[in-house]
Amino acid sequence: MEKLKDSENLDPFQISQIQLYTACKLMSCDREIYKALNQPERFVEIKITMRMDNGSLQTFKGFRSQYNSARGPMKGGIRWHPDESAALVKALSAWMTWKCACVDIPLGGAKGGIICTPKEMSNRELEILARNYIRKLADIIGPSIDVPAPDVYTNPQIMAWMMDEYETIMRKHAPAVITGKPLPLGGSAGRLISTAKGGAFCIREAAKDIELNLNGAKVVIQGFGNAGSWASKILTQDFNCKIIAISDSKGGIYNKDGIDPNKALVQKEKTSTLVGLKDAQMITNEELLELECDILIPAALENVITRKNAEKLNCKIVAELANGPTTPAGDQILSKNEIFVIPDFLCNAGGVTVSYFEMVQGYYQYFWDEKEVFTALDRVMTKAYRSTVDKAKEYNTHNRMGAYIIAVGRVVDAMQLRGWL
Ligand code: GLU
Repeated sequence: MEKLKDSENLDPFQISQIQLYTACKLMSCDREIYKALNQPERFVEIKITMRMDNGSLQTFKGFRSQYNSARGPMKGGIRWHPDESAALVKALSAWMTWKCACVDIPLGGAKGGIICTPKEMSNRELEILARNYIRKLADIIGPSIDVPAPDVYTNPQIMAWMMDEYETIMRKHAPAVITGKPLPLGGSAGRLISTAKGGAFCIREAAKDIELNLNGAKVVIQGFGNAGSWASKILTQDFNCKIIAISDSKGGIYNKDGIDPNKALVQKEKTSTLVGLKDAQMITNEELLELECDILIPAALENVITRKNAEKLNCKIVAELANGPTTPAGDQILSKNEIFVIPDFLCNAGGVTVSYFEMVQGYYQYFWDEKEVFTALDRVMTKAYRSTVDKAKEYNTHNRMGAYIIAVGRVVDAMQLRGWL
């Protein structure tokens, strides 16, 4: 196979291609197979022009990347972020493909995004943006084609508007067009906290493997959005871990004796930042990543563990709740230093797994309680965790490649059975 260059200046899509290429090489796949897997099946760029509350007209760029449909309808969230880009959405759609295959749910991978700053928009503006996005994409999404969901800065209310817009266009009920819906509209119990819950199941298993006692284990969390904030609560409640530092986009807070996640949440809700929390010292995001701890959880955006800082990490486990937080160069350093990585598309697969449960429950019109959802989630996550770690051992490689080998193998099998390869 041709050699791909490894540099820290690559965009996220090139990084996802390097990871795929490395996995294909380990699996002794032909170059043709790599080529059949390294681009989305379909990529759409759209433009949304809308009237803002202040009377001005604004135009937004949006995307949907449908990466692979061999294993089922494509699945993946929609991110609203000022730094969204075509390359990022393509990378995230690839990771969704590997994520669904790694945890063995019958779905393909997709991702969407809009370049915007939702924090600065009113509810009315958010609703118009959501409805317009669906108007532009209604022809290429659908319950058996591509099923969106929430991601960075999108939430159940936005999913409700999107579902309603799709149903209005189709002139029929079609709740299975989207997941992460509010409960009264066919959402699943536990969906909101499922990404963090799935990650917690993986952390529990990893702790057994490296013989780490979770009771009192020191945890550092980078990012305090949905995944990070719920992780802080779950790890404290379920395992009595001690959260010693947390950060958000404005900075970090640290207390060696532990931060109460509930107090952090109240502070964040009141002032929209963690910075300023009583009894905690301020630190920068860079300092936070290098703190001595047992478990480091990147739970924000991509490219935070790189060639520049990986050597300085001082933890036993990196549990990647964010998508794409570690670059390939960062990966090599973590592996050399024997830091146990729970790779992103395994660690954060709880969200899409409960999305899948939401689809199943919706089809049967029979809804489970939270306990049933989490029992089923535990089963899926623990099995995927075990097979990832075992595969990594079998191939004498690190866990990310273990997860890739399983996922790519399953997608290639499905493509071959369909006669695509
Ligand atoms: N956005 C989540 C993810 O990155 C969930 C996707 C889904 O539920 O479809 O996994």
